[in-house]
Amino acid sequence: MTPEQLQGDRWIACLHPADRQRTLEAWQTAIRTQTLYEVEYRMQQGRTGAYRWFLARGMPRKDNQGTILHWFGTCTDIEDRKQAEQQLKASEENWRVLAETLPQLVMVARPNNQNEYTNQRWRDYIGFTVEQTQSDRWAYLQFIHPDDREGARAHRQHAQDTGEMYEHEERLRNSQTGTYRWFLTRAMPVYDEAGQLVKWFGTCTDIDEQKRTEQRLKESEENWQTLAETVPQLVWRVQPDSWVDYVNQRACDYGQTTREQLLGHGWHYLLHPDDKERERVTLDHAFRTGIPYEVEFRLREGQTGCYRWFLTRGMPVCDETGQVIKWFGTCTDIEEQKRAEQQLKESEENLRVLAETVPQLVWTTRADNRLDYCNQRYCEYTHAAFEQLQGHGWRQFLHPEEAEGILALRHQTLETGEPFESECRLRNGQTGEYRWFLARGTPVRDETGQIVRWFGTNTDIEDQKRIEEALRQSQERIRALIDSNIIGIVSVEGEEEVLVEANEAFLHLTGYTQEDMRSKTLNRVKITPPEHASFFERAIQEVNARGQHTPLETEVICKDGSRLPVLVGSVIFQERPRQTISFVLDNSARKELEQRKDAFISMASHELKTPLTALKLQTALLHRQLAKQGIPASAPALSNMEGQINKVTRLVDELLDVSKIQAGRLEYLQETVNLDALLREITETMQQTSPSHRIVVRGIVETSLIGDRDRLGQVFINLISNAIKYSPDAKTVEMDLSASEDAVTIQVRDHGLGIPREQCDKIFDRFYRVTDPKQKAIHGLGMGLYIVAEIVKRHRGTITVDSEVGKGSTFTVTLPRKRDA
Ligand code: ADP
Repeated sequence: MTPEQLQGDRWIACLHPADRQRTLEAWQTAIRTQTLYEVEYRMQQGRTGAYRWFLARGMPRKDNQGTILHWFGTCTDIEDRKQAEQQLKASEENWRVLAETLPQLVMVARPNNQNEYTNQRWRDYIGFTVEQTQSDRWAYLQFIHPDDREGARAHRQHAQDTGEMYEHEERLRNSQTGTYRWFLTRAMPVYDEAGQLVKWFGTCTDIDEQKRTEQRLKESEENWQTLAETVPQLVWRVQPDSWVDYVNQRACDYGQTTREQLLGHGWHYLLHPDDKERERVTLDHAFRTGIPYEVEFRLREGQTGCYRWFLTRGMPVCDETGQVIKWFGTCTDIEEQKRAEQQLKESEENLRVLAETVPQLVWTTRADNRLDYCNQRYCEYTHAAFEQLQGHGWRQFLHPEEAEGILALRHQTLETGEPFESECRLRNGQTGEYRWFLARGTPVRDETGQIVRWFGTNTDIEDQKRIEEALRQSQERIRALIDSNIIGIVSVEGEEEVLVEANEAFLHLTGYTQEDMRSKTLNRVKITPPEHASFFERAIQEVNARGQHTPLETEVICKDGSRLPVLVGSVIFQERPRQTISFVLDNSARKELEQRKDAFISMASHELKTPLTALKLQTALLHRQLAKQGIPASAPALSNMEGQINKVTRLVDELLDVSKIQAGRLEYLQETVNLDALLREITETMQQTSPSHRIVVRGIVETSLIGDRDRLGQVFINLISNAIKYSPDAKTVEMDLSASEDAVTIQVRDHGLGIPREQCDKIFDRFYRVTDPKQKAIHGLGMGLYIVAEIVKRHRGTITVDSEVGKGSTFTVTLPRKRDA
């Protein structure tokens, strides 16, 4: 530009538009006030067109009156200074922004400790303004936790004295909440070029979380150790190179050794030699892969020197990068468990052996009812392999009619856990036939009471079922019989023979009622005559021996006290408790008939007796007259006639005796009887009339009895004549006499036909004769032994017979020596 171009106000155009107004104002103010003009502006460089900063200054020159003559001015290029200023401002700006952005509390302090700057965060937290801290160089100590103040002061003093960095962990109070948090306070000294301390730059970093974590870590480490010492296991920690750096006290106690000995690889010496290899392989794998491991091995107990089984578990601990930094582990004593397992195994083994031995089908299922074992017998019966039966396979063998019910029952018992029992049919795999089984299942529980299995058996009850069915049918038949009321039937229970049930026919006969039966107040003794007790005793013996007794003629005492003749037969119906059923037939009609027969016999024999006596007398008379007339030739015929008459007389006598016994009218004399003399007399007489047999008498009784001589004689005559009569082929009949202090015994023995065992008792009954044809061929009426037994009984003696068919019989009569008065 030329000077002309700048004259007047035109220089203004050279200024930066933004500065023109301001510059003009300053200039006008200077003119008006006549003072120094000073202004900074940007002026365009004519050549480049760029603006540069200038400091313009104008000084008025005045005359004596003070009127301005000239203005002298200078423009100094201040572009470089301006730029430097600008940069400093910008950097300061940046620093502040940074200081405000930082998550820390930031402050700048002068060398004398007075704050020069604090960021917003600092002010918010501490609650002090810059000015407040300026008044007292130790003011900041107020917001440090009392416990940390002393440390803080000392550290600061030291930093100031030495000019070293200040670093201190201290708790600072939050002015808003009044609570303290941990901070790491750091202050850095700043020096100028001359090495003079000009400032402290400080930050407080909140490390509260970190502190707490550290604390927690410390506590957890302590807890861990405490835990490790408390647990009932052996606890250890091992470094990744398998170096053991911790073991708990229990481990030392177990090995009876010191911790030092166990650390490192020391513990290996406790390991059972047989388990070393397994342990090594497992650990190698675990350490290589970083996968938790489990291994069982035996460790030697220091005190006993015995090895016990342990379950060892190792667990890796990794850092953030996933690197294993250590392994923690425990060894749990499982000796007992091992033993129990062994025992279980053995007992399972035993169970299996047992299961294979028993005659049942044996099975086990898991808790969900799936079959997991069955014995060989099961496979054989179903003709199926185990694989076909396992799980639910066995169900196919159930009979369709029961299948659903059985499964429902199983379902229910699985829920309730109750043992079950049910009957079902199972198909025989080979024949296709179904048989009945009784299925029984029991749950097996573990120590917590949880069902772990079901154990069961299927017992073949087909035969039992059939028997039951047969029994049911027979019971039905019996019931039908009882209900038919054709004969009286009464059910008797127990040793007391209590009447528990009777049909209408029985009640009708006796007059008792169902109520009498229900009340169970009647028993056999009550309803039978006491004099028949012995008959019943014999009947009971027979029932015990053969399950039943031969019909017994007796009487029932009816409800009204009257006696009803009956025929009773009984059978055992049930053994335990004893139950017998008796059949009762009204015998009164027969009894009456018998009475009439007895009356007839009695009458007939009386009627016969009179003409017989006359006949006998007349024959004797005739005998004598013929002898007188000297006609002996007719004597044999006559004596034959006499013999026949005697026979008939004896017969009639016996008939009379029988009817007297029946009527209870047989009379006995009471006299002293010399038994030896009596027997001698009888045998001599009988030897004369029976030359076919030799009668041998052995022994003597040497005693007298009180009784009826003729009646006793009748006993032995009868026994000897029977012995002769029923031993047609024998040569002798023997009689043995003996005596004891109380009784005399007379035995009559023959070597004849003998008597079948079952008829031995009956031969003493009235009119009873042995049914054997050989015996039948021999004449007789079955009255002799009846009278004999009656006479012996009346003399308080006994008579028994011992006999063998084809060999002979022995009749034994025992008589008391002294009869009671
Ligand atoms: P009987 O008049 O029939 O001989 P008893 O009362 O004397 O009558 O005898 C009854 C039955 O006992 C006889 O019918 C006979 O079958 C049998 N009996 C008696 N004694 C003997 C004997 N000594 N040997 C074989 N059977 C005998």
